[in-house]
Amino acid sequence: MKLRRISTLGLFVMFGVVLTLSAVYGQRGTDTAKDPVAEADEKIIAEIHDHNEIMTNLEYLSDMIGARLTGTENLKKANDWTRQKFADYGVTNPQLEPWTVAHTWTRVSATAQIVSPAVHTLTIASYAWAPSTNGMVRGRVVYVKARTMDDLTQYKGKLKDAIVISAEPNLLPAPDQPAPNPVDVPYGDSFLLLAPRPPSAEPVYGPDFRKFLQARTAFFKNEGVLATLTDSGKPDGLLNMTGMGGRNYDIAGIPAAFVSSESYGMIWRLLQRGAVDVELNITNSIGDKPTEVYNTVAEIRGSEKPDEIVILGAHLDSWDLGEGTTDNGTGSMIVLEAARALQKVGLQPKRTIHFVLFSGEEQGLVGSRAYVAAHKDELPKISAALIHDTGTGRVVSISLMRNYQDREMMDKVVAPLHSLGLVELTQRWMAGSDHSSFEEAGVPGFFCLQEPAQYFQTHHTQADTFNQAHEADLVEGAQVMAAWAYNVAQLRDLLPRKPVAASGTIAGN
Ligand SMILES: [Zn+2]
Repeated sequence: MKLRRISTLGLFVMFGVVLTLSAVYGQRGTDTAKDPVAEADEKIIAEIHDHNEIMTNLEYLSDMIGARLTGTENLKKANDWTRQKFADYGVTNPQLEPWTVAHTWTRVSATAQIVSPAVHTLTIASYAWAPSTNGMVRGRVVYVKARTMDDLTQYKGKLKDAIVISAEPNLLPAPDQPAPNPVDVPYGDSFLLLAPRPPSAEPVYGPDFRKFLQARTAFFKNEGVLATLTDSGKPDGLLNMTGMGGRNYDIAGIPAAFVSSESYGMIWRLLQRGAVDVELNITNSIGDKPTEVYNTVAEIRGSEKPDEIVILGAHLDSWDLGEGTTDNGTGSMIVLEAARALQKVGLQPKRTIHFVLFSGEEQGLVGSRAYVAAHKDELPKISAALIHDTGTGRVVSISLMRNYQDREMMDKVVAPLHSLGLVELTQRWMAGSDHSSFEEAGVPGFFCLQEPAQYFQTHHTQADTFNQAHEADLVEGAQVMAAWAYNVAQLRDLLPRKPVAASGTIAGN
C-alpha cells in the first residue's frame, strides 16, 4: 500500500516577482535580454533532465556496494567509487578527507524467541555499537518504567539476568492515514515521527535524556541485566536501527536490540498476563583499535572568487539492515549528479562549489563535524551549505533554518526554480542532519524539505533498498541542488550570517 503523495499543485504560490537581479547578482539585466543566471539554470535543468545518471549510479551504490556503516570496508568502497566518479566527470580535486573512529562495529547475527508461556519467534536486530551476548542467554522480561535515576532506584537488586523493556508499545498510524505534509506540519512539531507517541514514550531528543540513557545503561550493567529490547515502531515487521556508541564510537555496556512492533506487542500483551521468558543470541564483531574513515570531496573552482565556497552535501554512510538507498544514497547520488551536470554545462561559477559526501552522519553528524573542524579557516568564506537527506521525495522547499537574514537573497536565488514545483521558502528548523554542523559553526546551513515518499516508514530498516527510489523525484532534487549552488555562487556577496546576540551566542537558534 502506497501512502498518498503530497499534491504540490495545491501548494503552488504564484510569485509574480519582478526580479531586481542587479541588486543580488551585481549584474545588469535589461527588459528584453534574459537574466544570465536564469538562462544558466535552464541549461543546468535541461542537462540533468536529458543526461542524468542518477538511477544508474544509485543502483550501483545500492546493489553492488550496499550498506555503508561508517568504519566498514563497504563505506571505503563507496568513498573510492565516488571519488573515481567525480574524477570521471572531470570535477576537480576529488579526494578522501580522513577522520578517525574509536571502534569499528559489524553485525554478525541475532536470533530471539519467547520461550514461555508460549513459543514465538521474534524479529530482532542488535543495536549498532552494542556488544554480543554471552552465546545463547535466557532471561525474564522486566518492564522498567523510569525517566530519572531516582525512578531507577526501585529496581535495585531486581534485575539480575533480566531482559529489560523500557516503554509501552508505540502507536502506529492506520495504514491508510496520509503521510504528513512537511510544509504544513505545525511549526515546532516533528514530521519525522510516524505517529503521535504515547505519553509514556521516551523523549526522542535532548542532551539531558541522552545522559540519563547512558547512566541507565551503566545501572543495568551493574545490576546484571542480560539485554534490553526496544520497539522498532515501524509497520509490517520492519526493524529500526541506531547506535549505542554515540559520537565517540564507544561500545555500549550491555547487549541491546530492536524488535519489530509485532514482536514487541506480543511481549507486551503476554506481560499483562504474567511472566515472559525470552531466549536470545547476539553476535557482533567489534574492532579493537581506532580506524581511519573518510568524507569524499570534490570541487568546481570559482573563476572570480575561488576562495569563497558554496557547499552541496549529503551523507554517504548508512545503517546496515538494508542497502542505504534512501538514507542516504539518494542525496549522495544527487550531489554527484549536480557535480556532473555543472561540470558538463561548463558554466564557470564565480565562487568555488564544493561537493561533500559525509560519513559518520548516522552516529551523530560526526563526519560533517570533522569536515567543519578540518576547514575551520575557510568557514568565514563559506557562503552556505545545502543538504539533501530525507529520501527519494521531491524537494518542495528549502528550509532556511531560521536564517531570516538570508530570506530576501534566497527568494531571488530560488525564483528561477519555481517552474520545478518548488514552493515558498520555509524557516522550518530541523536538527539531525549535516546542515546542523554548519549552523553550529555559524555558517548558514540549509536543508531540502522533501515530500515524505514513505521515507519515515522505511529509512533505517531492511526495506531501505533500491525499490524505494523514484527517478522523477530524484531528477528534480538534482536540478534544485545544482541550480541553487550555481545561483549562490553567482551572488554579489556571501550570504549573511545570523546576527550574533549580545551574549555571544547565535541569535534565533
Ligand atoms: Zn540520513
